[in-house]
Amino acid sequence: MLPVIALVGRPNVGKSTLFNALTRSRDALVADMPGVTRDRHYGVCRTGERPFVVVDTGGLSGVDEGLDALTAQQVRLAIDEAQVLVFVVDARDGLLPQDRTILNELRRSGKPIIAAVNKTDGLDEQNALAEFAVFGIAQTLPLSAAHNRGTEDLIAVVLPLL
Ligand code: GDP
Ligand code: MG
Repeated sequence: MLPVIALVGRPNVGKSTLFNALTRSRDALVADMPGVTRDRHYGVCRTGERPFVVVDTGGLSGVDEGLDALTAQQVRLAIDEAQVLVFVVDARDGLLPQDRTILNELRRSGKPIIAAVNKTDGLDEQNALAEFAVFGIAQTLPLSAAHNRGTEDLIAVVLPLL
């Protein structure tokens, strides 16, 4: 079975855009893995030295459950299924309280966490990263998923952890 990474973060930070950039597909494959359900988005990233599965945890249905319940569900999913957690934040919105809530949950898992600071296109990258330095995540990378910038660096950081 291929190793798995999960994309986790608030709504609208760019998880699905990153998913598409990594898997180069708009229609996520539904991987043939035990426990897979249709409301999750699975794809395979094949652009690095070794392939791995990417889970877009924002693919869950659950509109009626409210944001907190939905986010909690997504975080649990990521923690259960993935070897590496990619915590996606939005450089334009900056650091929001919900980011901290999600990160606290992720940290409880003890699994490796990479912070992907997305939407840095048109911004000063160092400024964008600086705001998230308080997280203390050693691997904090700038990203522009929409422009496919930073995805190769992200893959390079992910692979040794798998
Ligand atoms: P999700 O809810 O986390 O899956 O976020 P989406 O991938 O659906 O993206 C939310 C919005 O952010 C969409 O309008 C995207 O086009 C936009 N977006 C995603 N990535 C980037 C990026 O790198 N730069 C900019 N400027 N916008 C982005
Ligand atoms: Mg999404």
